[in-house]
Amino acid sequence: MKRTLPLLLALGCLLATTQAATAQPVDIYSRPRKAERSRTYDALHYRIQLRFDEQAKSFWGENTITLTPLHDGFTECVLDAETFTVSAVTDEAGRALDFEQTPHQVRVRFPRAYAYGDTLTFTVAYHAENVDVDAEAFGMSASYDLGLGFKDETPEHPRLINTLSFPEGARHWFPGYDHPNDRATNEVIATVRSDYQVLSNGRLVSVSEDSVHQTKTFHWSQELPHPTYLFVLVAGPYVVLEDSLGALPINYWVYPKDVADAPRSLARTPEIIAFLNALYGVDFPWIKYDQVIIPGIGGGAESTTATVLGQSTIHDARAHQDFPSEWLVAHEAAHQWWGNLVSYRDWSQIWISESFATFSEYLWAGHDLGAEEGAVNLLNKKNAYLREAHTRYQRPIVFDRWRYPNENFDRHTYQKGATVLHMLRQQMGEAAFFRALRHFLQKHAYQPVDTHDLMIAIKEATGQNLDWFFEQWIFSPGHPVFEVSYTWMETSKHIRLRIDQVQDTTQGVPIFKTPIAIKVVTSEGELVKHLWSNARRVTFDFDIGSKPLLVRFDEGNHLLKQWTFEKSKEELLYQLAHDDVLGRSWAASELSTFVDDPHVVATLMQSAEHDAFWHVRRSAIEQIGALWDVAHLDFLKQRSLDRHAQVRATALRLLGDRADADLVDFFKKRFEEDNSYVAQAEALRSLGKCGDRSVAPFLEAAARLSSPRNIIRSAAEGALELLMGDGES
Ligand SMILES: [Zn+2]
Repeated sequence: MKRTLPLLLALGCLLATTQAATAQPVDIYSRPRKAERSRTYDALHYRIQLRFDEQAKSFWGENTITLTPLHDGFTECVLDAETFTVSAVTDEAGRALDFEQTPHQVRVRFPRAYAYGDTLTFTVAYHAENVDVDAEAFGMSASYDLGLGFKDETPEHPRLINTLSFPEGARHWFPGYDHPNDRATNEVIATVRSDYQVLSNGRLVSVSEDSVHQTKTFHWSQELPHPTYLFVLVAGPYVVLEDSLGALPINYWVYPKDVADAPRSLARTPEIIAFLNALYGVDFPWIKYDQVIIPGIGGGAESTTATVLGQSTIHDARAHQDFPSEWLVAHEAAHQWWGNLVSYRDWSQIWISESFATFSEYLWAGHDLGAEEGAVNLLNKKNAYLREAHTRYQRPIVFDRWRYPNENFDRHTYQKGATVLHMLRQQMGEAAFFRALRHFLQKHAYQPVDTHDLMIAIKEATGQNLDWFFEQWIFSPGHPVFEVSYTWMETSKHIRLRIDQVQDTTQGVPIFKTPIAIKVVTSEGELVKHLWSNARRVTFDFDIGSKPLLVRFDEGNHLLKQWTFEKSKEELLYQLAHDDVLGRSWAASELSTFVDDPHVVATLMQSAEHDAFWHVRRSAIEQIGALWDVAHLDFLKQRSLDRHAQVRATALRLLGDRADADLVDFFKKRFEEDNSYVAQAEALRSLGKCGDRSVAPFLEAAARLSSPRNIIRSAAEGALELLMGDGES
């Protein structure tokens, strides 16, 4: 899943919102220790029948459960059950079975003992009235509709019904074994008003109509086993747009008002699935793939064969440059392999799902947008993790301390895990890495796994023992913090490179053993050396013919790291002109030390205007923006017309930081003329920083405009708050 981070960038999955906007240090080691749940039976099949009273927000269900005991003398069965009330339990012959419902469970007692290997079937009848789950009591944000929710019609969406089974929401809409170490097949048979469509997992078996009661009954069947948190039901007046990849049906379930806009976000799904088929070497493992739009979440959730996507996935043409959705489509589609085909045994192991889905986003970005955008995508993931590492905590990726499953769905699981997979790929080599992944997927298809299963699959497929890699990157917290320096020895024509790891190792962060590529460029050419850092300090001597023009640390930008590398002005200027995208961006930011030199400033301005890649232009502009003299004002104004919206937004922000009331008309004009919502929002924020209260009506008008994710309204309100708050203090 990708979680909802309220406004901004939802992550790939239902990132729920326990790690809210304010990042504060968290003592994660005070959390209780958790373990995979032991079980006494193996659930084989659930046949879930449901009907609804939308007005009363009530539903009635019958779940016919088939299971097999995992021990002899099996006389009772405990099912997870929340929110609904069980009214009866009956055996296959319809005879009543004894049961007891407690706050979180239903205990069913059988009149005789069953043996290991027996199969038994019984039916639980239940109902829930005026459903209103307190999601916070289950570790989710208050706005998260855990379980089964009834949505009233709003301007944004029609009236509809949808479930959110992640992470422990299934138990709110049907009784069952709701922990990820069990997989079962299931049917969903739902009766709804006749103008609704119903989507669930698997194959649509039938639709029958009752003209007397004006209802339709949809019968869905998921015929390959999956864990309960991937069960889904969505019902509403959807329009179903049909697509396909060869024989694989691919459908988009969208609100009637979104039919024209939906293809912009969803139409590349077949291409994405074809990409993932080829990448992972295992064809899409389910009978069909649906995506359905729902309200109330910011990202998506990868229910088996039927991903739910938050309604902000669909947008108009103008929003497409600011908020493209393909990354989310790719993330959720990747889950159909990672998380669904192989699933995790326990909530401590979720990186097997989320890190791979997030890694797949990066691979898709590189494939679709080119290597440079791919590099920026990976850098952003590293930085997202580093922000969490610096402000909240550093934990091992596989981590067994949590109160609620949702606490593990953080930037360690998503972004750090994705960057670790990238490093694993570099370590193993392309062919070996993907061969091992294919072996893992095939060996454990339709099974729950833990990290050791992956470690073993790597050994089986490649012969490589990567236990040391997993130990430091998956089972230990933190990341390396490098201090890099070198000395040029003119007489002996060589450089001595020193690499220190200076991270604090008192809290379990290791000294990392890691390969590092070093590129040295001289006037005669370049060479790349592959070295290892595996101690607090390592030094290397290279013979080179002449003084280096550039010594590049981590050529290829593969490592998750913090680092400092003090360089001369000349070397940074060379790097700004000649290195790869991330090297040029880095050099621009390092040159901030030398902006008292007019030549440096002129070169940065040149780069800010003419570098071919937006990320470098943006980095160069940041340095110009730090110069508070009037001379650079016109330059920033001109850069706020850059062809890339992120660059324009940065220029507008830097201009706003000058708090110059003379810029009010300029910002108004930019707001009115820019076609990017992100740049417009920045123009509004900058207006707020100008300190001129006469712009309040302008901001108030902007606050009434609708925009994707309400980005314009939020910016206008923030600007107003700043503006009106200022004078009072
Ligand atoms: Zn996800």
